[in-house]
Amino acid sequence: VVAVEGIEGEERMEETGVLEGSDNIGYFIEKKLRVWCRQSNGVWVSGTIHSTSGEESFVSLANGNVVKVSTCHLFPANPEILDGVDDLLHLSYLNEPTVFHNLKYRYSRDMIYSKAGPILIAVNPFKDVQINGKDIVTTYKQKATDKPHVFAIAENAYNEMMNDGVNQSLMISGESGAGKTETAKFAVQYLAALGGGNVGIECQILQTSCILEAFGNSKTSMNDNSSRFGKLIEIHFTAAGKICGSKIRTCKHQSRVVQLAAGERSYHIFYQLCAGAPQALRERLNLKMAKEYNYLAQSDCLVINGVDDAQRFLKFMETLDIFQISKGEQDQAFAMLAAVLWLGNISFHAIDYENHVEASNDEALINAARLIGCESHELKEALSARRIQTEEGNIVEKFTMSQAIDTRDALAKFIYASLFDWLVEQINNLLEVGKQHTGWSISILDIYGFESFKKNSFEQFCINYANERLQQHFNRHVFKLEQEEYELDGIDGVKVDFADNQECLDLFEKKPIGLLSLLDEDLHSPAANDATLANKLKQNLNGMACFKGDKGRVFGVRHFAGEVLYDTNDFLKKNQDSLNPELIELLSSCNGQLPQLFAIKMLNQTLEPATSLDSPNQSVSAKFKGKLFKLMQQLEKTKPHFICCIKPNRKQLPGMYEEDLVSQQLRCSGVLEAVRMSRSGYPTRMTHQEFADRYGFLLLETNESPDPLSISVAVLKQFNILPGMYQIGYTKLYLRIGLEMNFTYYGKKSL
Ligand code: ADP
Ligand code: MG
Repeated sequence: VVAVEGIEGEERMEETGVLEGSDNIGYFIEKKLRVWCRQSNGVWVSGTIHSTSGEESFVSLANGNVVKVSTCHLFPANPEILDGVDDLLHLSYLNEPTVFHNLKYRYSRDMIYSKAGPILIAVNPFKDVQINGKDIVTTYKQKATDKPHVFAIAENAYNEMMNDGVNQSLMISGESGAGKTETAKFAVQYLAALGGGNVGIECQILQTSCILEAFGNSKTSMNDNSSRFGKLIEIHFTAAGKICGSKIRTCKHQSRVVQLAAGERSYHIFYQLCAGAPQALRERLNLKMAKEYNYLAQSDCLVINGVDDAQRFLKFMETLDIFQISKGEQDQAFAMLAAVLWLGNISFHAIDYENHVEASNDEALINAARLIGCESHELKEALSARRIQTEEGNIVEKFTMSQAIDTRDALAKFIYASLFDWLVEQINNLLEVGKQHTGWSISILDIYGFESFKKNSFEQFCINYANERLQQHFNRHVFKLEQEEYELDGIDGVKVDFADNQECLDLFEKKPIGLLSLLDEDLHSPAANDATLANKLKQNLNGMACFKGDKGRVFGVRHFAGEVLYDTNDFLKKNQDSLNPELIELLSSCNGQLPQLFAIKMLNQTLEPATSLDSPNQSVSAKFKGKLFKLMQQLEKTKPHFICCIKPNRKQLPGMYEEDLVSQQLRCSGVLEAVRMSRSGYPTRMTHQEFADRYGFLLLETNESPDPLSISVAVLKQFNILPGMYQIGYTKLYLRIGLEMNFTYYGKKSL
């Protein structure tokens, strides 16, 4: 049976443009070799050329079908012997279908890690693939395998730190649900095994994720355990290579405490507390079940399939013990969580005909006040009105319903954010870097991945902006620095071009006309609302390449990973997070230790110079940007290793590989470009001295001039290395891929 299917044309070509085109295809046609072509449903298939006529070819597929394809849309396939190679660079023919085929081939055999030159690709298996156990750690420690693995990357980073004395970082990227957080944990696990045996710090470092994830992760539509905060774990080592401390930095914002999208949950810890608090604690906090708290019940989603929140809470409490947080402090921390939940239940009622409201004297108000440590009338007053200074003296401004709710929500967010920071501080104090510190460290970055939903809000806006910055870090290191290195070393003609995302960053950061500045302008402007904001953005930014105006309150941004439409609904509200002075006063004079501490911290920040990044009068986005910049500054001082996580399907299921999803991620992450660049460039480089030291002894005749450059040139000559295979820079030799293997081979033989 011969079925003839058409295969669509032009736009496909553009997509594959990053890698090799179908240049060699003439040879493939002539020899009737295996080729790849894309079926009309978008799925790639391989087959052999059956016949050609004019611009068209007929390809026989394995199932006996023959498809008609425009010849320029055929791609050479690799010989089967290359099926499933570890490193994409080793493929003879590197094009989009061969890359996909290779990853898919490996994935279906549970080989979830692959290399793309310098980058590790990790495809989320959504099941336990049994490759992260202790025995595997040992295998990598003993360097008994060279199979790609996150352990191998950690091993490399560790060795480079020990040998070169340079701080290292593991940059883990990928969409939400791609496996970043899990991968980060494996990296920490490996480093703990390498540098362990000191004082058990490594065990504590491994346990931090239990606390951080309870407080910082939520169920979203993409991932049941989605990180809503970015974290950088710095692990410090002694001169002997033992772990001597750790420091955690976070970058987050808290809107999820008070507002949820349908089908999503708030932070895990709330549900864990409600489900798992022991009886005595329940009574002290007057705790109810999650569904009775408005902040949690506003979304229809209260449980996660297969997750026992009560049991997680017991684990959480044990972990607090490990971090030496006393029972008294634990009680206070839980009281703060319960206070947040009760705050959400506080209701307001009208008190006059001018729409002014007052907090109702009910269970919620009484419980919230008691847990915070103040009188309920004090809390009621602080939530119902504020003082305004005028020339005639102070006047009291009563709140409208929306002002009162915003004030209540701001307090809830503040308490939660402060509690999270306090916990991180306790952890950091305990893991503090000891005296033997060398200043060497390995940092592991695990941040929220790029997000694009049907409806995107302020949270996605911040998250995607952060990802844009991280992408630039990747670009800079993988592409720009590569180009600079060639140029500095006097080598021309190697053109490294890549999709720069500077334009998109400019759209966010340009002053005074950029997304962030325009957003902040409206912070204290009473006339501004979400609709005027959207209009203003469109008026000012419409000319910019990455900006797209849309209907009504919606605007679009062309991100490196795709276009996202943002709805400005609640943007202004979410961008504001200043606490009324009345609330700060209330907290600082209450008799709860934690609330007092939170208030004092806030007041101290207020006293800092206005240039400080953490200045409390700043908007949420400005603070977020400040934290992000600090994180990036920290990372700039390190040698990065990149791990790119790929989500193989949207359903979070094992054994399912959606080609379009994978191809889009590969294209957007810059991985394909990096592969192309590594292939076209000179991936192996050594100083003249290193090369001469390593291979000079292979010379059959003693070289007259003993300088490293002449020795290196003599070695290259002796082996008749073709000029296109290497470049000689001022300081280094640059070798094409695979060339060093030749020398190593000869080197071993002569030894
Ligand atoms: P991200 O941090 O990128 O959003 P996660 O690391 O939270 O994604 O991974 C999402 C889910 O995928 C995890 O909860 C886990 O079920 C599964 N997963 C991720 N990586 C692995 C892995 N290496 N092995 C097994 N399951 C994994
Ligand atoms: Mg995560």
